[in-house]
Amino acid sequence: MRSEFLPFSPPSLTEAEVAEVVDTLRSAWITTGPKVRRFEQEMAAYLGAPGALALSSCTAALHLALVLEGIGPGDEVITSTLTFTSTAAVVEHVGARPVLVDVEPDTLCLDPALVEAAVTPRTRAVIAVHYGGHPADLDPLRATCRRHGLVLVEDAAHALPTRYRGQLVGSTDNPVCFSFYATKNLTTAEGGLLTGPPAYIERAQVAGLHGMDKDAWKRNAQGGSWRYDVVMPGFKYNLTDIQAALGLVQLKRLDAMQARRREVAATYTAQLAPLEAFDLPVERPGCESAWHLYPLRLRAGLDRDRFIEEMRARNIGTSVHFIPVHTFTYYREKYGYRAGDFPVALAESERLVTIPLNPTLTDADVADVVEAVTGIARAAGGGR
Ligand SMILES: *Cc1c(COP(=O)(O)O)cnc(C)c1O
Repeated sequence: MRSEFLPFSPPSLTEAEVAEVVDTLRSAWITTGPKVRRFEQEMAAYLGAPGALALSSCTAALHLALVLEGIGPGDEVITSTLTFTSTAAVVEHVGARPVLVDVEPDTLCLDPALVEAAVTPRTRAVIAVHYGGHPADLDPLRATCRRHGLVLVEDAAHALPTRYRGQLVGSTDNPVCFSFYATKNLTTAEGGLLTGPPAYIERAQVAGLHGMDKDAWKRNAQGGSWRYDVVMPGFKYNLTDIQAALGLVQLKRLDAMQARRREVAATYTAQLAPLEAFDLPVERPGCESAWHLYPLRLRAGLDRDRFIEEMRARNIGTSVHFIPVHTFTYYREKYGYRAGDFPVALAESERLVTIPLNPTLTDADVADVVEAVTGIARAAGGGR
């Protein structure tokens, strides 16, 4: 057994990130400035995005996307119940109603047929979640949005980089929201990105920084003017240059980090499939996952909560993605949801365990995880 605890998802940081942050601290500008603008340009180039705005979080990006669409009281926004709570919370923040929908059993992403069935005259948007890094089935979702005049927002917190039918998530004209939270595939400690056409990104920048028509860096630059106008009561959602310094280095390392994620995921699949104790994450034809998560689904005979305790006893951290949103007190009480309303999400969430998948894992760490998972499955009689 391991002598040291293996954390579920530590950040992968090198001396290059440390040096770039120190460089910012020693410069004359630490908040939103030249490094943020460079990070946005490099992210847009990497994704093939028409434009990109760096923000304080993915939650902020999702919120701004709804604000810019003018979504508010009386409106409905359809999204997955199997997501992080902020995907639904932003709908509440604009005063609209989150209409939760069940997921597809293989990818755990929004079921397009159920989205189509949930559309009403009040529906304004659909928020697709690329669960674990696997793309949601975008073509039928796009068709539904086109048919009913809805905006398709993508929660791409797990989806850097993810491909759907050869196309990178974030390269299209609709709003796509990425997260640079500490556990995500690229981290700035906290941070996010909104992609979209240049004119849209310009509006988002104003809405995300107090509704001011000029940011402080522009005003303070040589030749800048102190004068500004306020065109809306905007939000304080900007990213800092200290964070962008992390992002600039992380982006240079992203392809190498992704190669390691993919390698670890392939090892897990090769070694755990023969056990027949779990349903393992899949990649549909034409899809490339960002492999943000490696969620196991325990088959009969294995109790999920006990499995997590036994992994901890073997010094290995795990997590659960996600507790369905409709089972939380707030949504249950406000909208009268019952646990069984979304049978796929409910059944799957009760047998989900996410095991460590990140670029800091050594071959020995991966072997420890496989050994622990195998041992627990065999002891419970759940594996061959
Ligand atoms: C992490 C996460 C978010 C929130 O990202 P923040 O940058 O922390 O706001 C949103 N949706 C999903 C699916 C996530 O995993």
